[in-house]
Amino acid sequence: MGYQKAKDEVINVSPQTTDAGKMELYLYSLRKMAQQNVESNRITLTNLYNLKAFFYLCGEMIRENPDLQYGVILMDITQFKAVNEFCGRSEGDRLLKFIADCFGAYEKERPYTYACHVRADVFCMCTAYGEKQELVDIVLSIKKKIDEFPFVYKVLPSFGISISAEREPSISYLKDCAVIAMNSIKGKVFASYAFFDDEMRRHQLRERQVENDIVSALQEGELELYIQPKVDMHSGRIVGGEALVRWNHPQKGMIGPGEFIPVLEKNGFIINVDAYIWERVFSYLGSLQQKKRHLVPISVNVSRVHAYDTGLCDTLLGLKEKYQVPVGYVPLELTEGAFLEDEEGMYVRMKFLKSKGFVISMDDFGTGYSTMNMLKNQPMDEIKIDRGFITDMDNPKCRIIVRHTIDMLKDLNTRVIVEGVETKEQREFLLKCGCDLAQGFLFYKPVPVEEFDRLLCSQDKSCHFC
Ligand code: C2E
Ligand code: MG
Ligand code: MG
Repeated sequence: MGYQKAKDEVINVSPQTTDAGKMELYLYSLRKMAQQNVESNRITLTNLYNLKAFFYLCGEMIRENPDLQYGVILMDITQFKAVNEFCGRSEGDRLLKFIADCFGAYEKERPYTYACHVRADVFCMCTAYGEKQELVDIVLSIKKKIDEFPFVYKVLPSFGISISAEREPSISYLKDCAVIAMNSIKGKVFASYAFFDDEMRRHQLRERQVENDIVSALQEGELELYIQPKVDMHSGRIVGGEALVRWNHPQKGMIGPGEFIPVLEKNGFIINVDAYIWERVFSYLGSLQQKKRHLVPISVNVSRVHAYDTGLCDTLLGLKEKYQVPVGYVPLELTEGAFLEDEEGMYVRMKFLKSKGFVISMDDFGTGYSTMNMLKNQPMDEIKIDRGFITDMDNPKCRIIVRHTIDMLKDLNTRVIVEGVETKEQREFLLKCGCDLAQGFLFYKPVPVEEFDRLLCSQDKSCHFC
């Protein structure tokens, strides 16, 4: 490639007397000061630039050489924590220094290249390239060196590579894309690198769109409360419901939670959405109570993000006060993940809420890794067996697992409900296993709260409201 090294470039400034010249000189001295400042922004352990300096230097390099193509390579070690734990901190540091040298070497070898120690075991490089293969070769070469490094613990590096067709791409955008590419293969033994591709780009665009639109969606009342009835499988009667959010998007129509909740869990806005849905549920139950109608419990989902929400208990108790609804009518559904995030924090909060009368329900039971441990340690009143367990009822092993799981949960004095019942055969089998409660399309799909209300009304013979 016929280009010069950006960082060795000498900027010639001749004495200027015009206003434009003075401005240029002023900007030049500002840049010079920034460059000097940058040198002090290195990570002590590895002597590589930190992220701030890296962004500054790459930004300048791209601005000054806008016609080159730039690629960003990001690397993370799977389970680096284990390296420190098994081999000790100083061995961990030895490995990090070695990796830093592998990255740093390219600053000398390749023109228009900067390396960076992002944090802990995350390293990054931005380099100008001619062919994509050059970036792959860099990755494979670094991986080979790491594989051959004499080290007692087998480390597994994952690389993400991003390139941009745009002229003058933003370095932070390239780095974010490389992170996404890397996360797509993290921990996969047989894949060591991935390029940020079109599907990832579309996914990211969708995520950005959700982030942009969600605040106004909440303000404009586009988020709607749906309720899926829970039934007694013997009689088919509705004995409760689960609150499920839907987004009635003005352009895209009805959007299910699977498309936006994961994004909101990343940026924390799920806390606001949950609080909104909870308030709608309390308000609905409050209205039933005012009309002296029969109440049924409507459970709400509590995102795992609430593990860090210090306001969780106040929000729920505030709603209880405001709507004067007995809190036993609003069971809290949590997945195991909620406890794994911050086991202590969530455990303490759930214990407190339980002491205030809330019912705690474990959602999607059987899908996590430490379900049995959870049962032993957490204060669960109800368990919802995940749909995945009963979809494969033809498999005899599945039937054995479901039957014994139900037996065990009943022995533990926990209420059991099965999610995702779709066929009569599943219903018959579950009834034989001694499970009475279910939620599934065989009985009802999630419906708008107004329709749920009509269903509830029509089953309540003494109801004068429908
Ligand atoms: P979940 O809490 O396990 O809710 C049950 C999901 O299973 C619902 O999907 C429901 O429509 C679906 N389902 C129920 N019965 C059947 C069935 O027979 N067949 C099939 N195929 N599906 C069935 P939905 O509404 O798409 O919600 C997905 C997940 O999104 C929920 O899983 C919950 O984790 C989350 N979610 C929904 N609303 C909220 C909310 O307001 N806040 C939070 N934090 N999470 C929510
Ligand atoms: Mg749920
Ligand atoms: Mg569930």
